[in-house]
Amino acid sequence: MHKPSIMVKKRLLFFLSVVTVGISGLIFRVGYIQIVQGDFLKAKAWEQQTRDRLIAPQRGTIYDRNGVPLAQNASVSTISVIHNQIQDKDKVITTLMDVLGMNYDEIKAKVDRVVALERIQSRVDKEIGDELRKRNIPGIVVDEDSKRYYPHRNLASHVLGFVGKDNQGIIGLEVKYDEYLKGMPGKILTEADAKGRDISGGIQQRIEPLPGNHLVTSIDIVIQQYAEQALEKVLQGKEAKKGSIIIMNPQNGEILAMANKPDFDLNEPFRIQDPLLQNQWSQLSQEKKADALNQMWRNFSINDTYEPGSTFKIVTSTAGLEEKAVRLNDTFSCPGYRIVADRRIRCHKVGGHGTQTFVEGVRNSCNPVFMDTAERLGAETFYKYMKLFGFHEKTGIDVPGEAVGIMHNIKKVGPVELATMSFGQSFQITPLQLIRAGAAIVNGGYLITPHFGTRIINQEGKVIKTFDYNKKQQIISKETSDAMRKILESVVSEGTGHRTYLPGYRIGGKTATSEKLPRSSRKYIASFLGFAPADDPQVMALILIDEPMGIYYGGTVAAPVIKEVFENILPYLGIEPQYTEQELKLESIGEVQIPNFVQQSLTDVKKEARALGLTLEVLGEGNLVKEQFPLPNERVNQGTKLIVYVEPQDKK
Ligand SMILES: [Zn+2]
Repeated sequence: MHKPSIMVKKRLLFFLSVVTVGISGLIFRVGYIQIVQGDFLKAKAWEQQTRDRLIAPQRGTIYDRNGVPLAQNASVSTISVIHNQIQDKDKVITTLMDVLGMNYDEIKAKVDRVVALERIQSRVDKEIGDELRKRNIPGIVVDEDSKRYYPHRNLASHVLGFVGKDNQGIIGLEVKYDEYLKGMPGKILTEADAKGRDISGGIQQRIEPLPGNHLVTSIDIVIQQYAEQALEKVLQGKEAKKGSIIIMNPQNGEILAMANKPDFDLNEPFRIQDPLLQNQWSQLSQEKKADALNQMWRNFSINDTYEPGSTFKIVTSTAGLEEKAVRLNDTFSCPGYRIVADRRIRCHKVGGHGTQTFVEGVRNSCNPVFMDTAERLGAETFYKYMKLFGFHEKTGIDVPGEAVGIMHNIKKVGPVELATMSFGQSFQITPLQLIRAGAAIVNGGYLITPHFGTRIINQEGKVIKTFDYNKKQQIISKETSDAMRKILESVVSEGTGHRTYLPGYRIGGKTATSEKLPRSSRKYIASFLGFAPADDPQVMALILIDEPMGIYYGGTVAAPVIKEVFENILPYLGIEPQYTEQELKLESIGEVQIPNFVQQSLTDVKKEARALGLTLEVLGEGNLVKEQFPLPNERVNQGTKLIVYVEPQDKK
């Protein structure tokens, strides 16, 4: 037998595909009518016989690590009219006008509409719903409903995310954990005849909704507040465009705080915050509005990449040590530049750092030291570490929209590309990828998965699911990690990171000043990656300040912010300071203890805050303090911002 020729095979294949497409089309069509339309038709008949009203389930709460609700529900009501049950139309209209405060024409138009069920208003206060229910007017129905409510408004807005009209998550943790949080809607069934008249004789059959489960996160609201406060202060002071901060436990990847500024109010997520855009909002096209909102909702610690600059030198150093391409006491010389191929690549110190050891090179953040290290490693080994540290992939964080690093194809990496990459230029990564790499460098060498969600609990508080992030790959040796911790501690005690030095604590870190593209724009991102305690890191923090005005160096602008954050959160985490004798002499100047302001009048709080030298920010309306931050008894520096949430005096 002849083997079929290629031509014949091709024809056969073509014929086969035409038939396959045709048949699948047919199957699809039949399936569509039966499955999709069938359901629809059945549902229509059902709707005619029973007029069911959905009862929205209570969405689960999102908690911080200590059980403080970050996203919760307020009970509200939905008001509707059932046309065929109306006995006295005027009474229905006047009652709705009276209770809901709507105008006559608006209500009459709705009441006159001949539909089974006409929604008048949704998400009205529960008290209003109860009032209408009490009046018991035939034709007016009140259904319970719930509205998502974020008690801390802007706090961690990009992380928590918010929900849409149907209570479905739109961004952030609200989307990621939607399946656990959303619950199952219930129904109120009322039997009706073909004309829609109630024939149930007033007996309602209820299928109760199933409330959603709760999400417990690793966020610590106290740390989150400190972080946001510090970030806001520096952005204002430096008139910077934006900024972000991440605080993570480098041992297990639990994120204690993450904030981006500017942010937005989770209770009004569709309200643009930029005052310029706010002014021209009504004139903007739908497309422009959507763009602006999406921009406002972006979590750029995760969704966007940037050129890390010198903080990345910790990766080059680690690779050099791990591969034994460099030793701590190797000497390097810096004349202020290095000639690589045909290019002259500068060090930030114009006159050069002269002769220095590897450790001194890291302390001084001297570019030629890293160019030499990368050259010794070679592109292939350098890329091996890019991969090991996870810059090619998502970190796996549990919020949607994560970006990955953008770098040269290894085939296109010549000496110049390798040299610039060694000190953090000519490629982009996300801030989250950087802090994850930093964690592996100081935690003994383990690549962790940054995350927020720790467990799901049900309505009774019983744990029904624990998220497991324990699988950690060791990517570098403990010896290299130990050496890096010591070097990075010396960056703070003796090098470019000295503005993070905090008496009583051992802190390690690395500064960066990245020049944004195009370089001619002379715009910068100042950043600092720090961790403490240096001998057993429990917290790691990364801050980015985008386009600071005036002085823009990471060591000058970003490092002090992390110092301020650590100064507050280390004692809070129970990490006690251990002062040297010299440090003890210089302590306790300008510190104050925060009093308890809760249940006090705002007028009194203002006076007291002024007397203590605290700056005050008031959130909410009214004169009664409901919550405060920092918490009572905390010790803070004078000039720290005190945030109070207030409400009207008479409201319970
Ligand atoms: Zn140098």
